[in-house]
Amino acid sequence: MNGFADASEYYLREYTDECIKEKLKHYNRRLRPLYEQLHAYVRSKLRKTYGNCISETGPIPAHLLGDISAQKWGGIGPITLPYPEAFEDLSENLKQQEYRITDIARLAEDFHRSLNLSKMPHSFWKKSIFTKSSDRTMTCHPSAWDFCDGQDFRLKACLKADREGFEAVHHWMGHIQYFLQYQSLDVKMRSAASDALFDAVGGALSIAAFSLKHLKRLGLFHGRIDRKADINNLYLLALSKIPLFRSMYVALSWKWRVLSGKIKPENYNSQWWKLVEKYQGLKPPVPRSEKDLDPGNIYEIICGDPILKNFTALILQFQIFKELCEKSRQYQIFDKPNHLHSCDIYQSVDAGEALKTMMLYGRARPWTEVVKHFLSYGQLSDELNPDAMLEYFQPLHDWLKKENEKNGVYVGWTVSIQVD
Ligand SMILES: [Zn+2]
Repeated sequence: MNGFADASEYYLREYTDECIKEKLKHYNRRLRPLYEQLHAYVRSKLRKTYGNCISETGPIPAHLLGDISAQKWGGIGPITLPYPEAFEDLSENLKQQEYRITDIARLAEDFHRSLNLSKMPHSFWKKSIFTKSSDRTMTCHPSAWDFCDGQDFRLKACLKADREGFEAVHHWMGHIQYFLQYQSLDVKMRSAASDALFDAVGGALSIAAFSLKHLKRLGLFHGRIDRKADINNLYLLALSKIPLFRSMYVALSWKWRVLSGKIKPENYNSQWWKLVEKYQGLKPPVPRSEKDLDPGNIYEIICGDPILKNFTALILQFQIFKELCEKSRQYQIFDKPNHLHSCDIYQSVDAGEALKTMMLYGRARPWTEVVKHFLSYGQLSDELNPDAMLEYFQPLHDWLKKENEKNGVYVGWTVSIQVD
């Protein structure tokens, strides 16, 4: 197999680190306490809605989390919010102000311009598809396109002018920005230093756009920015990031076991659910058998998108965000511990310059080098490090712990069958 022990080794070829599999386990362990607190809190809240059909100490039925693949739990945000009285629904505010998705894209472009990044080219506005069109069959998973002629860059997605659309436009415009920055390179060098870095830049920009200060500036948040508003905001972001992180880990574990032959075809589905139960604390809504193939519900598995890219991008986007905050002098760890979430990088040319420099390399240098060069001394220990992600969510983590303790909520879940 071209020198690879099995296909899982082939998928790891971008990662020169020989202990990458061990490291991924380590990252997963680091995120576990936060996930368990979030899971416990969500389960206790869902029990208030659905009653005893959800066990107090067992896995959560996967269909109750507001998303068909149970990867992003944002759909249950409204019924599980920490402080409903302090909540302002971004989707509702966008609707009331009659935003269209292209108006949101204009906001995203203004955000890029404020960082002194490039404006979106004419083709982007003229040829992108932002909403599902009825005159053709479309794959709705968003994608960004560089037509490699130095002029034509487009986005294709089926978005709505709501919170999800706001997040997606800010994320995907980050990809177009990456294309624009490395345009002067030879065509062979025109791609990001790694897929994960490409994705993480979009992720970092969308995290930045969700800062309450920025939403307030846009007239999309009217309340007071206080502890309650902060916890609500962190909670909603955590619902879209932390369960996804865990789900990507399960998808990776399953895929590697399949590729190495450890999981045999006759056990594909049962082994899938064992992993889901062990790492995500979820269970299927109805009994499953080997006639089903539930991993096929995960986009990355069915479409062959690199799962490792998404997993590492989740970590890296918080490192990039933290660095942008430091560069914008909006955040200093020694002055204000645990306030990473309140940084607002809008109009920081220094942050934009640093990001631009990183993107300008294209793939002319290894991604580890590019990232190390971008990160300042505060984050230099490793090119991948979940510290920034944990720091970002620390205020929420503390809040969840207290809340779960106060209400006597069981943290963790009983596992019915051990994974091999
Ligand atoms: Zn992306």
